[in-house]
Amino acid sequence: MHQRPGVRGVHEPADQALPVLGPRLPATGAPGTIPPRSARATTVAEPPAGARPVRRCREETRMKHEEIVAWLREADDGRLAELWRAADQRRRECVGDVVHLRGLVEISSHCARFCAYCGLRAPNGSLTRYRLTMDEVMVCVHNAVRMDCGTVVLQAGEDPALEARWVAELIRRIRSEANAAVTLSLGEREVEELACWKEAGADRYLLRFETSNRDLYERIHPSRPGQVHADRVSLLRQLRELGYEVGSGVMVGIPGQTVHDLARDIALFGELDLDMIGSGPFIPHPDTPLGALRRGQAGEVAEQVAADELTTYKVMALTRLTCPWSNIPATTALAALNARQGRALGLCRGANVIMPNFTTAELRSRYEIYPDKSTGHLYEHPDDLKRMIRGLGRLTAAGRGDSPAFQRRQGGAAKL
Ligand code: SF4
Repeated sequence: MHQRPGVRGVHEPADQALPVLGPRLPATGAPGTIPPRSARATTVAEPPAGARPVRRCREETRMKHEEIVAWLREADDGRLAELWRAADQRRRECVGDVVHLRGLVEISSHCARFCAYCGLRAPNGSLTRYRLTMDEVMVCVHNAVRMDCGTVVLQAGEDPALEARWVAELIRRIRSEANAAVTLSLGEREVEELACWKEAGADRYLLRFETSNRDLYERIHPSRPGQVHADRVSLLRQLRELGYEVGSGVMVGIPGQTVHDLARDIALFGELDLDMIGSGPFIPHPDTPLGALRRGQAGEVAEQVAADELTTYKVMALTRLTCPWSNIPATTALAALNARQGRALGLCRGANVIMPNFTTAELRSRYEIYPDKSTGHLYEHPDDLKRMIRGLGRLTAAGRGDSPAFQRRQGGAAKL
């Protein structure tokens, strides 16, 4: 059997095969599984900066466009097992065995945009919107820190009522009252606002470019009425210049997206040297223009990328090979396709981050980007997530969990 050039030389011995995923462990444990201890006992402290040397890791794999395309088309289980093993090995070598927990707090469900697939889009009148007060956010933040999240992620729709000064004050409060890094995911904002928030103590910014195909992007992500299209890739570069750790990602299976588009997306991850890369399947909300269309009516093309679990794993694995030092989450959208094993399989195929949701249960169900989020069945208690991580033979890490990619750029030692 010949090997793909992209993963040449990374076959593993049999004893490093993918972990076998069993059913989700009950709280009391189950025969034949790792004995349950307190979840906290499985959390390892992050060593102080410089305490450990940068791990040796091969240089990132610069796969040719056609190689990435070939992997995206691959359907053979045995060949795909090679890809999963290569991504898992690269993950272990470059970002280690620990899994970082990021505490997600959805601070506002208001959004001014008209994205053609997202339940939060401004014209969707079926949602009951909310915006948290600062004290409400802080309750969620403290809960996240108590559950060993070294980072809190403040996420919202593109909500102009989240004023720059208010957000800056919130960041300062988190940095002074809670021992956590702050990641922002607040959409396209003015550079002055982004600079103000960095100055206030924000560490990271997430902004997905969704697809590198400009026409496709503009079709699903129209700009606000009266505004010109923002160039998200330029904005990502500006975020880097401002000193942020920069995260981005794409949707897998947008109607009209081809494997060539997706291969270019993965190459762009490498070009941008991203610190965090989150990719999830395209799941349109039914109360949106794309969600209302039947399959085949939404602009699908001949070689349409499937918005499925397998393609999403392929993107995650190829992302790990392309950007070995980046933090890669096993996303909630992946769990939407496979609630029982989606996150665990993601962790076995390149991911090293999980983002438990600390928004209160009532509000969580109203942050309805896609329909499954509203049922609540995707929610998993952080202790359950820790048990799942332990079942994979991995540990959760207490600490900020800065990306080794960022640490390398800073000239420091990577803390794994
Ligand atoms: S994708 Fe983001 S910007 Fe677009 S409608 Fe949804 S929350 Fe708003």
